[in-house]
Amino acid sequence: MRRNSLCGVLLCGAVAAGAQAQVRLDSQIANLADDLVVANRILYSQGVVDGFGHVSARSPVDPGHFFMARSVAPSGVTQSDIMEFDADGKALAGDTRLPYAERFIHSEIYRARPDVMAVVHAHSPAVIGFGITGVPLRPVYHMSGFLGRTTPVFEIRDAVPAAPETDLLVKNPALGAKLAERLGRNAVVLMRGHGFTAVASSVPVAVFRAVYTDQNARIQSEALKLGTPRYLSEEEAALTQRTMEGLSVRSWEMWKKQAGLPP
Ligand SMILES: [Zn+2]
Repeated sequence: MRRNSLCGVLLCGAVAAGAQAQVRLDSQIANLADDLVVANRILYSQGVVDGFGHVSARSPVDPGHFFMARSVAPSGVTQSDIMEFDADGKALAGDTRLPYAERFIHSEIYRARPDVMAVVHAHSPAVIGFGITGVPLRPVYHMSGFLGRTTPVFEIRDAVPAAPETDLLVKNPALGAKLAERLGRNAVVLMRGHGFTAVASSVPVAVFRAVYTDQNARIQSEALKLGTPRYLSEEEAALTQRTMEGLSVRSWEMWKKQAGLPP
């Protein structure tokens, strides 16, 4: 009653609706932060990341922003480590914690690809050979149809021809933009002498793609020793992608358990 004396019913209704909407958004962000914690633990548990590597998610509130952990090893990420960044990769709200140096991989991919909601960057050993030999990484089985016909390789020397000697890290927006350009419309881009970056429309699917990029690389390397692999056709790749990614929640739940996390 006291509230009604302070504001009209319509206004109070609007305030209440606004508060409810805020609670919904806060809960969406909390769920996303939880997904990022789970993603970090899974990627570590599955051997895709080690002390390095990171995963991010686009903000459901401000599509120009994204969330990712501060600069810590993925195996120990908790909700309190999650930071919010703007479209230029700058930390928000005066957050002075140390961010990952390669956050520009994420910021520039989100800028270039409005369809991308999550990004994984990793250095898993199995994929490195495909970035340094000219042997293309191609889908060899039904779990990796998202690789499509082939996987592009980002050559950092081409991105900075005037000063091609670098530490190979994507440490500024200009390099991030070049990487995003090389990624194009693909799901995965390899990075010569460095690793790979996978993108998707959700955190669980980005993790799915990262894990199966690694597994595809292992299987393809073994197959190449045996003979000439028969790769998935483009049509097979598209069809298997649709089927298997539709079931990706099964892997997510299993990997979560394997990582020692509660259901
Ligand atoms: Zn890296």
